Amino acid sequence: MFNTLSDRLTGVLQNLRGKGRLSEADIDATAREIRVALLEADVALPVVRTFIAKVKERAKGSEVSQALNPAQQVVKIVNEELVGILGGETRRLNLAKNPPSVIMLAGLQGAGKTTLAGKLAKWLRGQGHTPILVACDLQRPNAVTQLQVVGERAGVKVFAPEPGNGVGDPVDVARRGIEEARRSQHDVVVVDTAGRLGVDEEMMRQAADIRAAVQPDEVLFVVDAMIGQDAVNTATAFRDGVGFTGVVLTKLDGDARGGAALSVREVTGQPILFASNGEKLEDFDVFHPDRMASRILG
Ligand code: GDP
Repeated sequence: MFNTLSDRLTGVLQNLRGKGRLSEADIDATAREIRVALLEADVALPVVRTFIAKVKERAKGSEVSQALNPAQQVVKIVNEELVGILGGETRRLNLAKNPPSVIMLAGLQGAGKTTLAGKLAKWLRGQGHTPILVACDLQRPNAVTQLQVVGERAGVKVFAPEPGNGVGDPVDVARRGIEEARRSQHDVVVVDTAGRLGVDEEMMRQAADIRAAVQPDEVLFVVDAMIGQDAVNTATAFRDGVGFTGVVLTKLDGDARGGAALSVREVTGQPILFASNGEKLEDFDVFHPDRMASRILG
C-alpha cells in the first residue's frame, strides 16, 4: 500500500546523506518534498501541515546528537513523527473486568466488517478467549449467512435471529446475543452491524441505538483504507453519529496510496487497533504504529 510514499520519502531522505551539516534552506527544501510526497499519498491536509511543522521545528531546533549525523537525525525525527500520527504506542483491546466484553463493529457496507468479525474471533481464540459472534446486520440479505460462514471458519459460535421472523430488530438481537453469551459462558461478544454504501442517517441511528442499548467496551470503526480521502470524511461522520473507541484499517494489501491510514488517527483522535491485509482469516494483526512507520521509511 505504501510503496510510492515509501519510495518518495526514502528518496528525499537519501538526498541528505553525506551532508556534514544541514542549513535552514536544506531543511526547508526537505520539508517541502516530504509535504508533496504526503499530499500525493492522499494524507489529509491538516495532518500534513502539523506533521511538516513539527519536523521542521525539531530539525532546526537543538536536538543535537553526537551519535547521529544530520541526515540520520532528520530520518529519526521523521520516523518519530510518523509513529506519532499513527498513534504512538500500540493500543490494546479494552476488555471488561466482568465478562462478557462487548465489541461492536461499525462502518460502511463493504468496509470488511463481517470478514473482520471472523478474523477478530480467530485472533481472540488464539489469545485464550471464547468469543461469540452476533449477527445484527439484518439489512443485507446475505449478511447473516455470511457471518455464519465466517464463524464456522473461525471455529466460533454465531448468534443470529431465527429465520422467517421478518426483518427483526437489531437492538433486540444484540441484547439477546449478549444474554446468550452470558448463559453459555462466552467471554467476548463481537457484534456485527449493518452498513450502507454511503453515510446514511438511518444506518447511523441504528448503530447509535445498538451502542446505547448494549454499552460496548469497544466500538471499532472499520474502514477500507483503499477509499482514500473519503475514509477521513466517513470516519468523521461515524465519530459524530455513532462515536467509536478505535479504528480497524482494512485492505492494506491494496495498491491505494495509503493516506487514509495515515490520517484517520489524527483526524478522529481515536487509535488504530488492528489492520487487515487480505481476505483470509489470518490476514490480520494488531496495529503497531512503530512497525508501520518503519515499513514506510523502508
Ligand atoms: P462488510 O459489508 O463491511 O461486512 O464487508 P465484508 O466483510 O463483506 O467485506 C467486503 C469485501 O472485502 C469482501 O469481498 C471481503 O473478502 C473483502 N475484504 C475484507 N477485508 C479485506 C482485506 O483486508 N483485504 C482485501 N483485499 N479484501 C478484504
